[in-house]
Amino acid sequence: MKDIRITDRQERIEGFRQKVIDDAVVCVIGTGRTGNEVLKNMALAGFRRVLIADMDTVAKTNLPATVLFTKDDLGRLKVDAAAEAYRRLSIADSCAVDRINADVCTGLGEGAVRRCDLIINCVDNDQTRLYTAHLGKLLGIPCIDVGIRDLDWTIFAASGDKDEACYGCTMTQGAWDKALERVRNSCDVTLRDNIAQGKASTIITSGAFAGAAAVEEAIKMLHHRIDPENRLFDPRCGVMTIYSSVSRKLESYRIRVKDHCRNHFCYADFGGVVPTDLSADDRLGDVLARVESEYGKGWRLSLEKDCIPVSNKAFVTKGFCKSCGRPIDIYRPQFSLKDGDLLCEECRAKGALPAFPSGAERVWNFSLDGTEQRILDMSLAKIGIPRFHVIELDDMKEDRPPLFLELTGDEKKVLPCLTEYRKKTAGKEETHADV
Ligand SMILES: [Zn+2]
Ligand SMILES: [Zn+2]
Repeated sequence: MKDIRITDRQERIEGFRQKVIDDAVVCVIGTGRTGNEVLKNMALAGFRRVLIADMDTVAKTNLPATVLFTKDDLGRLKVDAAAEAYRRLSIADSCAVDRINADVCTGLGEGAVRRCDLIINCVDNDQTRLYTAHLGKLLGIPCIDVGIRDLDWTIFAASGDKDEACYGCTMTQGAWDKALERVRNSCDVTLRDNIAQGKASTIITSGAFAGAAAVEEAIKMLHHRIDPENRLFDPRCGVMTIYSSVSRKLESYRIRVKDHCRNHFCYADFGGVVPTDLSADDRLGDVLARVESEYGKGWRLSLEKDCIPVSNKAFVTKGFCKSCGRPIDIYRPQFSLKDGDLLCEECRAKGALPAFPSGAERVWNFSLDGTEQRILDMSLAKIGIPRFHVIELDDMKEDRPPLFLELTGDEKKVLPCLTEYRKKTAGKEETHADV
């Protein structure tokens, strides 16, 4: 009897090509309700190359809606439990699943996302959704956003083209401001201790619907790239699809680019990204010296591009104790600071509560001449730059266009499985008919 391929049934769909799925690298951000459903559908459709990002651990309230997690996973990192379950469910002969355990807005290196063909955004707060939408445009990668509330759900597919709408364009100016406000503590630099997490009321069914719709849209987008004439697999970029459970209706709205959306620029406009052998573990002073030796004098490293939709990536040097007002050294990235971190040692020992703003000094740019030695001696990671990120260097005289250098020296550390998989399959003949 002729050997039947495991993907036989889906390959019977006219125009369907399994190779599109086999070859795609997909980045799934958030492994909660929708993230679980997205990953489940991907594993069973045969997606082999996946990058999963999430900052949380598995909690009891996740279990009623997360097919990848069991009671034994309680307390584990979501990315670890999800990656393990993905490999178990996967129908592919082999798969490469890499994990990033970090807050996406501050800990996801852009180099890792650049290695992906598509992003599926399954997070539950607007700040991270905005940041992910920004990454898609910046890197020119399509991004599908999934949202759920009660029994309803939404899907928004953005193309990688910066001149077309992104998730940020679906939001009003007021919603943008509210999303950004989430990270700030009134007029100070610290994070709110009790961030309103936006825990949505919802049930497994809406996540299951939305996850399936998102993966179907992903399959369409990936097919469309190699076969734009295929009508069955025509994606709907720039269209917000909303399912209302009360009316049992699916409605779609075309979204136009909004003036207040700050996500519409891309590296390609500035000559693209240059891979380097630099790493976030390198000393800032050494990185600046390397840039000077290769590109001439007069460059400064800037944190500003990373602040478009988040605004909390400055480096904080000095401030005042929030209880007694005594000057204190801080020397940490702003996003890592909570109220209690800005107390002097004495006040912290006394258990004093923060009462005043810290009056902290923030640094956005670093140069060999203008930055104090103490900071030049720190690694890029210590000033808040994630591994495998793309760093921005600006000409201090503004004569030359900015440089965008990728910390490619971190690639193997950040994407061990995907890097190994690519090496193994490079040049190897595909095991099935390339239709
Ligand atoms: Zn936009
Ligand atoms: Zn104090």
